[in-house]
This record gives sequence, C-alpha cells and structure tokens, in this order.
Amino acid sequence: MSDFEGLRALVTGGASGIGRAAAELLAERGARVAVLDLDPSPADKPLLAHRADVTDDASVREAVAAAVAGLGGLDVLVNNAGIGAQGTVEDNPDDEWHRVYDVNVLGMVRTTRACLPHLRASAQAAIVNTCSIAATAGLPQRALYSATKGAVYSLTLAMAADHVREGIRVNCVNPGTVDTPWVGRLLDAAPDPAAERAALEARQPTGRLVSAAEVAGAIAYLASPLSGATTGTALAVDGGMQGLRLRPV
Ligand code: NAD
Repeated sequence: MSDFEGLRALVTGGASGIGRAAAELLAERGARVAVLDLDPSPADKPLLAHRADVTDDASVREAVAAAVAGLGGLDVLVNNAGIGAQGTVEDNPDDEWHRVYDVNVLGMVRTTRACLPHLRASAQAAIVNTCSIAATAGLPQRALYSATKGAVYSLTLAMAADHVREGIRVNCVNPGTVDTPWVGRLLDAAPDPAAERAALEARQPTGRLVSAAEVAGAIAYLASPLSGATTGTALAVDGGMQGLRLRPV
C-alpha cells in the first residue's frame, strides 16, 4: 500500500499492545516509525525507540525532538499511551484521579503540543488518539477511566476544529475489549483466569475479543491519506459492541 510510503510516524505507548501493533503495521506498510514509551523494548520491525514518560513534559519534548530528528520530520502522531483504572467514584481518592488523568489526558496534550510545530510542516498531517468505547458507553466500575476517555474524545473534537485549517486531521479510535497485555494482566488477577476469559469472550457480540492488529488497522487508516477527508470522528473497533448497543460488564 503506497499510501504509507514515506510517512513519518510517532506512536506513544508503542512498546506494547495496541501501540506496538500500530507501530509495526505502519512500518510494515512503508512508514518510518518512532516509538515513545516508558521502556521501549526492541521490536521485530525496524522502529526507532525513544524512552519518555508522557507525564513529564521535559522528557516528552526531548523524545519528540530526537524522534523527529531521526525520522526527518513528522506526518503522523498516534497518541496511544494510557493506563487503566477500576471502580466507582467512591473507590479512588483524588490523587489517583490526578495520576490517571496525567497519563491518559495530559499525556496526549503534552505530546501533541510538542509535535504540532512539526506536523504543521507536513503536507499530510494526521493525529490519531486512542480513546475507548468507555468514553460514551456508561460502563459500570469504570468511572475514572471513562472520564479520562470522555476527555480524550472531547479533546479529539476540539483539536480537529482548532487545526483543520492548518491541514492537520485529528480522529480517534474507540476500541472495545482488546486482547493486549493490559487485558491479560486483568484476567491473570482473577481467581480463575481461563474462566474469566471465557466469560469475557461470551459477552462480546462476536464471541471473541478484538485483536490489537484490528485496532492497528483502524489507526493506520486514520493516519493515512486514505482517510484524507475524515477529521473529528471516532471509529469504533469493538466487535459491534456500541453499534449493537450491547454492554460489556
Ligand atoms: P498496554 O498496557 O499493553 O500498552 C500501553 C503502553 O503504554 C505500554 O507500553 C506502557 O509502557 C505505555 N505507557 C503507559 N504509561 C506511559 C507513560 N506515562 N509514558 C509513556 N508510555 C506509557 O495497553 P493497551 O491495551 O495496548 O492500551 C493502549 C491504549 O488503548 C490505552 O490508551 C488504552 O486506554 C486504550 N484502550 C485499550 C483497550 C483494551 O481493551 N486493551 C480498550 C480500549 C482502549
């Protein structure tokens, strides 16, 4: 697919799960890709790896500068780094709210701020944010996480509006339950991980979890000129969860 040839992309949280699958897919299709992560491990594909913490503005600015120098510019930012949180509003103290917001929301703000000057110089600039069906689905036991993803959704729309005349498209993907190390950790914490996985799969409209590669496909589409007229949208990659109005529990 020549639509990715020559694109220069930066993927945050690109060392694991969805971010890693997106980085590998973009590289496979001909993009030059840099990964920004807390601990970027070596990947099979030729990815440039930069260590940074999205909660630390200086480390983000340094890593973005190094990545852009290595890539020779920047066309695509995939804002994907994120962490989870369980519980109702009664379950998490203020400092936990601040901690998760700092990664999931401010992390995107910091990275975007550092990347915008470089994206403005691109002829086909795109930002793809990893949001979640939690942004709009009203999931039980996910108050804090849902609130951060609601903010990511609003931020996606606001950024799309602010930068549309600069030629920078901004969209998000809304994954459902994706089979990543993150979900693996949650399942492993259950008394019977295999039974918990089977129950989780049974609750999916498709009877299976979404794969990281399937979310990566949606990210790659929104990152490429194939979606050149698309900005300010959320693309669900949830096995029909939202469209069919079903709820994961
Ligand atoms: P993951 O834990 O497998 O990968 C997340 C990556 O982000 C890790 O490599 C981690 O090191 C990195 N990261 C975390 N905090 C960071 C920080 N402060 N600075 C830099 N990097 C940091 O998780 P995943 O399932 O691939 O999730 C990726 C994104 O997808 C997240 O934004 C998550 O909210 C979203 N998401 C996941 C699911 C799911 O079911 N897995 C569903 C909807 C949305």
